[in-house]
Amino acid sequence: MHYAHLFGPVSSRRLGRSLGIDLVPFKTCTYDCVYCECGATTVETIQRQEFFPADEVIGELSLYLSQSPSLDYITFSGSGEPTLSLSIGRVIRFLKERFPRYRIAVLTNGSLLSDPGVRRDLLPADVVLPTLSTINEETFRRIHRPVPGIGAEEILDAILQFRREYTGQIWLEVFIIPGINTSDEELAGLHDAIHRIHPDRVQLNTLDRPGTEDFVRPATPAELERIAQVLDYAGTETVDSSCSADIPSQYAEDPLEQVYELLRRRPCTADDIASATGMHLTQVHKVLQEMARTKDLQEKPEGRGIFYYFRD
Ligand code: SF4
Repeated sequence: MHYAHLFGPVSSRRLGRSLGIDLVPFKTCTYDCVYCECGATTVETIQRQEFFPADEVIGELSLYLSQSPSLDYITFSGSGEPTLSLSIGRVIRFLKERFPRYRIAVLTNGSLLSDPGVRRDLLPADVVLPTLSTINEETFRRIHRPVPGIGAEEILDAILQFRREYTGQIWLEVFIIPGINTSDEELAGLHDAIHRIHPDRVQLNTLDRPGTEDFVRPATPAELERIAQVLDYAGTETVDSSCSADIPSQYAEDPLEQVYELLRRRPCTADDIASATGMHLTQVHKVLQEMARTKDLQEKPEGRGIFYYFRD
């Protein structure tokens, strides 16, 4: 069975065993982040739409969840900004009513939380993970390259407003780019914002695989440790992946298709592929060899090893 809107379950450090729901077409977002693992944004918009009929997504979920899979979370993420979808509220409510045993997470860049309709849509979710990487307007534009009309101050106000209305957990992602949002002034601003928002967790993230722009480099563990000390917020942790795409396993009967669906969403090393799919490393290398022969497999050497990927 091929699911058009579901992917996974995947093993995620942030969310454990997680089934992904992708409600927006590749790569539709309000931002075009310099670190995006999915590549450049092709449709940059602030206009919410029902990109796919909600009934189609609900149909896939009904079928998949009727098998009672073991999951830690059902996660709205994918290849863009999930709150752009006008279906998100209805799909969350459906899950809560029909499959209340599953916890719901939403990975969002937070850019639409100023919209009362978006905040209302997310209220039944168990965990919302918005991004706040700077409160400086110039740095915000440099990192996220947003649609006109979205600003750093507005995002902070929107997250604060959401915190007041929402009773679930907020895990705030702070994406660290050394040399861009790591100055004393930047961190002091983040320190104040985080202590005002009072999230349940702060998750320091950094580049783990090739991003959109080559000048973005990952923070070292020592840099992340220093930043965590400056932010001085209980519940700060480091994580290993940003918002967006995870890994499908519904193609397990076809390893080539499974790896293709994974690499189409984000670059991975052979080790990443092995741990995401459960394949032995030898099998992963065989699949990669076959892909290099039959498909347009791209390679890029980085600190963690050779990353393999496809670009649409
Ligand atoms: S990292 Fe997330 S918010 Fe940024 S462009 Fe990619 S999908 Fe959009």
